[in-house]
Amino acid sequence: MDRVKDPIALAHLERERGYLLWVVDVCPLCGQRHTHGAGRVGEDPRLYLGHRVAHCVTGSARGYYLEAAA
Ligand SMILES: [Zn+2]
Repeated sequence: MDRVKDPIALAHLERERGYLLWVVDVCPLCGQRHTHGAGRVGEDPRLYLGHRVAHCVTGSARGYYLEAAA
């Protein structure tokens, strides 16, 4: 369970119809844009931060730590 080497991905919050998304504009692994669910409007989206498996990396458990951009 050693995740220390996984990078940090800065994400900003976007609001869709009824729910929230964490949006990573530049993935530290592939440079592309990814979105991660951040719960429904009214929930605390910060509960959805932390280590996430990157959508771009298949066949491995590689991921990153989702952190809120300032
Ligand atoms: Zn990626």
